[in-house]
Amino acid sequence: VSETISIIGAGVIGSTTGIEIAKGGRRVEVLTDPDETYSAHKGGVGIMEDQGLLPPDSGPLAFIDMKQVNDTGLRAWHQLEGSESWQGIVARRKVTYLSTDPDKDTSFLGDCLPEQNARRLESEDLQAHLRDAGYCVGASFETSIVNTKLAGEQLRREFENFGGRLTKKLIRNYDDVPGDGVIVDTTGLGRRMFLGDERIWGKRGQTLILKGDHGLTEVLSAPGEPISYNLVPIDEQTLLIGATKEEHDYERRADPLTRDSFVREGARIWPAVKKLRVFEDRVCFRPMADRLIVQRFVAKGRRVIVVNGLGGGGWSVCFGLAPYIASLAIAA
Ligand SMILES: Cc1cc2nc3c(=O)[nH]c(=O)nc-3n(C[C@H](O)[C@H](O)[C@H](O)COP(=O)(O)OP(=O)(O)OC[C@H]3O[C@@H](n4cnc5c(N)ncnc54)[C@H](O)[C@@H]3O)c2cc1C
Repeated sequence: VSETISIIGAGVIGSTTGIEIAKGGRRVEVLTDPDETYSAHKGGVGIMEDQGLLPPDSGPLAFIDMKQVNDTGLRAWHQLEGSESWQGIVARRKVTYLSTDPDKDTSFLGDCLPEQNARRLESEDLQAHLRDAGYCVGASFETSIVNTKLAGEQLRREFENFGGRLTKKLIRNYDDVPGDGVIVDTTGLGRRMFLGDERIWGKRGQTLILKGDHGLTEVLSAPGEPISYNLVPIDEQTLLIGATKEEHDYERRADPLTRDSFVREGARIWPAVKKLRVFEDRVCFRPMADRLIVQRFVAKGRRVIVVNGLGGGGWSVCFGLAPYIASLAIAA
């Protein structure tokens, strides 16, 4: 009888890796923190991009073809987009990038624009409005939007449907992991906490869900320092504002000052935000380190594989990495 493979963390990497292992018929258990204290996928929104995903220094991953990782991730997404069970979670949306810096207009998209089929903004009304609000006109292209919280829940269900076992348990040490099979550590920011890995630090992300007639039909995305804003229409009555605060901050509660500044900045980009009701806000953490880490070592006799898929391109990278990590775990 083969040993059970244990995965710590039911984020996007843990769940997709678990699905890949379970599909292959191996016994696999995912152990995850019931309180979700440090969880990136609770953020509420993810924008899938096929550019900007390559880590500047691929470090321990140099032997992996990152282009292939990205392609696999995007293929998985496109399959999900076409699948009925994911309807309402993933949508194709037009994204408009905005900038307040005329020199940065579209340059941050670099050479990827032609590949992305990107075009200059077409709507003159929208262009005029954005200029009035102090933004220079950016670029606009189609991308995938995902409600990451719902998608995370769905991935866990899918893992269980494939025969995987999901256990709610906070792991404080590798000794807490039952059995003696290989451990796949996908705890993201949590890893900093329980192993004291100082290279992993957090950016706090806060997301507001607003209710009311907003009239926005495409995603507006305003990159900036220290905060980048995304305005994402979920449906006619629901608008989401997501942003990541660029600082180390392990305080978890939603910050009213941050919320107010999101509403103010959101209203600057899209005035209808002012008359909307704040329905909910969420806070989560986005782990940041060397952008992508895959490590293998032995801890007290247990074989451990550590994976952290980090940064703005996290989701598609994570989807792409899952088959590779699953193959490492099965072979270990
Ligand atoms: C505001 C915000 C916006 C973002 N926007 C985008 C975007 O537009 N596009 C994009 O691609 N990516 C985006 N990301 C990044 C993306 O969310 C992450 O890259 C991705 O979720 C990382 O997946 P993960 O599985 O590594 O980590 P996580 O989703 O954090 O999963 C880790 C899991 O491990 C669990 N865990 C942690 N410690 C322990 C422990 N000790 N014991 C048991 N369980 C534990 C956690 O509870 C969690 O469930 C954003 C992140 C934030 C915060």
